[in-house]
Order: sequence, then structure tokens, then C-alpha cells
Amino acid sequence: MERIVYFDNNATTRVAPEVRNAMMPFFDELYGNPSSMHAFGGQIASHLLKAREEVAAFLNCSPEEIIFTSCATESDNAAIRGTAEYFGHETKIITTAVEHPAVLKPCRRLKAQGHSVVELPVNSIGQLNLDNLRDELKGTKNALVSIMWANNETGTVFPIEQIADICKEYGAIFHTDAVQVAGKIPVDVKKVPVDMLSMSGHKFHAPKGIGLMYIRKGTKLKPFILGGHQESGRRAGTENMPYIVGLAKACELARLGMADEAIKLTSMRDRLEAGILARCPNVRINGDTEHRLPNTLNVSFEYIEGEAIAYHLSDLGICISTGSACASGSLDPSHVIRAMGVPFIAVHGSVRFSLSRYNTDDDVDYVLEKLPPVIKNLRALSPFGPETDPTTFK
Ligand code: PLP
Repeated sequence: MERIVYFDNNATTRVAPEVRNAMMPFFDELYGNPSSMHAFGGQIASHLLKAREEVAAFLNCSPEEIIFTSCATESDNAAIRGTAEYFGHETKIITTAVEHPAVLKPCRRLKAQGHSVVELPVNSIGQLNLDNLRDELKGTKNALVSIMWANNETGTVFPIEQIADICKEYGAIFHTDAVQVAGKIPVDVKKVPVDMLSMSGHKFHAPKGIGLMYIRKGTKLKPFILGGHQESGRRAGTENMPYIVGLAKACELARLGMADEAIKLTSMRDRLEAGILARCPNVRINGDTEHRLPNTLNVSFEYIEGEAIAYHLSDLGICISTGSACASGSLDPSHVIRAMGVPFIAVHGSVRFSLSRYNTDDDVDYVLEKLPPVIKNLRALSPFGPETDPTTFK
């Protein structure tokens, strides 16, 4: 294979060398348990505190409000199921139709168990009508709102500050899945008063297997994993020190480098988008292009299958995805693209390009060279085309 161009960074990212180096001593000489009473354990506990302080600086909260978890799926489940367990069937849960399965599935499980659960619709650019949120919150007691900060498939950024204000106005608890914004746009929980927030290390250059929750002081929640006293009794289990230290390093790198990185990512992404639009006919950009993550581009190539595009590009060393990584493998069109009402001729042909700090302009040029012939060849084989009667597919 000539080369690898990795444009699938919303699925996972490469571990930064600085992160790996920070982790290594915790596999070797610094292997103690931070809960042990001896001085060696105390030394590890001080590293744990330092890591918690670094993550807290990244989110602008206090260290006690940070809980380390195994991944964002755990954080999302802990926030949603922990709140529902605390308030019982009095909880009304409001989420959106375009959440990651890590939010949608626990919400749907709770619905099957008799909780009141609402999934708010989105419009054709993937945005919410906030009046729908207000209507659903009217007259509620102990409502939990779980709305993602930015969408993993389209990069659409929700107006999270306004959503947080509405939740405050109605006394609702607000959880946000902030997995895709980590390291891409600033997250300040003093400016955006969320009650709970989920993040995942592997989406911003820490390893897989480490996540975090921000839980505002005083938030009512039953612990999701029971056992020891770790993480202020909110999440039991001996702390995964190498990965926690790695996550903290990734937060530090993001805190220091995010502003410059966002400019570079936006420039590469916009060049990729403009290049595709100039070279390929019958293309539509999915999502809200005004409020979008700097690294994400979701494109529908009409009349062909996204899976076929991803497959052919993979042979050329180009890594992209269709739908979310968790949903790919199924041939069903993405629930996010469907929720936006993208027409049939485009819904199956949607693919996501997601960039990172390790991509270069050369990578963009390579994709712009290899992609158009793939699209042309697949279109030549497709039974559909501009002449297809769209009413055939009702
Ligand atoms: N939430 C969003 C928006 C995601 O994109 C992902 C991963 O794709 C997750 C949650 C799950 O993260 P993790 O792999 O850490 O469980």
C-alpha cells in the first residue's frame, strides 16, 4: 500500500507520544495502589491528584468534580442510569434522536422499564428546535436532559449554552456527551453550566479504555459501579493509573494547543470540502456547516453506497467511515442522517472524514486525487442516477 491516510479520528485517534511517555513509569517503577497506606502508595496518590487537577484545569472545575471511568460509554450510562435510579419513575428523560448509542440505548432501556423518555427531533441540518425542549420541560419534576455537545457523525455543534440555560430555568439536571468536542473546541463548565459531562481519552490522543465524568458538586446520582471507596464513592475500582496519567497529559496538550490546532484543522477540512465539491457532482454536505467541529466533514455522494466508497478508499490506504464506528458493520443507513430527513438518494451515500493534528495538507491532496475516480466508477455501476424517479422510493 502506497501510504495510509487516517481520516477516521472521530472513531479513535493515535496516542500522542507525549501521552505514551507520561504513562510509561506507571507500568514500571510507579506501580503502587493510590489507596495503599504506605508512602509508596501515597506517592501514587499524589500523582492521581495531579492528574485530577490537570483535567479540572482543562474543564475549569474543581478536582473533586472529576471522576475517572473506563470510557465514555460508561460515563454516559452512569449519568443517565444513575440519575434515573436516584429519582425512580419520577424522572422524565429528554434526549435527542441523534445521540450516540451510548446515550440512546440506556434511555431506551429506561423507557422499556416504564420511565418517561422523549427523543427530540432535529431539522434538515441536524439542529434542534429549542421550543420543543421547553415544551417537554414544562411542568416536569426531576427531569434529566441528556443532549450531546457535538455530533460524532456530522460534527454539528448544538447551542449548548442556551440548552444549559433552559435546563436551569426549568430546574432540570443537564448531562452532555462532550466526547467529540474534547480537544477541538473549548469546554468551560463555569461558562456552560452543565451538571454532568462525559469524555473519552481515545478521541483526543489518549489511549482507549479511559474516560471521565464531570459531576457538578451537589448533583444527585446513584453510583453506577459499586465496590470500594474510590472516586469519592461515585465509581468503585482501583484507579487505572497509567491511563489516568495519559488522559491528564492529553488534556494538558489540548489545553495548550487547541487554539492553533483548530485553525489548522479547519483549513485542511475546508480545503477537503471545497476540493470534493469542485471535483465530484451530485454531492451534499450533511450537518450545520456554520456550527461544526473544525475537524469533521460529512458528505453524501448521491446514488451510491457509503460502504462501497469506504471499501474502495480502504484499498487505497484511506481510512474513513460511514455512520458511527459502533454502527458500521450494519448496512442500515445512519440514524443521524435519517433523523435529518436526508433524501433516499443521498442517505445511503453518506461518509465521514474526520481529521486530527497528525494529518497534513499532503493527506488532503492524496484524498482529492484518489476519491473522484472511485466515485465516478461506482456511479457508473449504480442502478440509480439523476434520472431516477425519487417517488419510487417511498
Ligand atoms: N459518545 C460519542 C459522541 C462518541 O462518538 C463515542 C464514540 O464513538 C462514544 C460516546 C463512546 O465512547 P467510548 O468509546 O469511550 O465508549
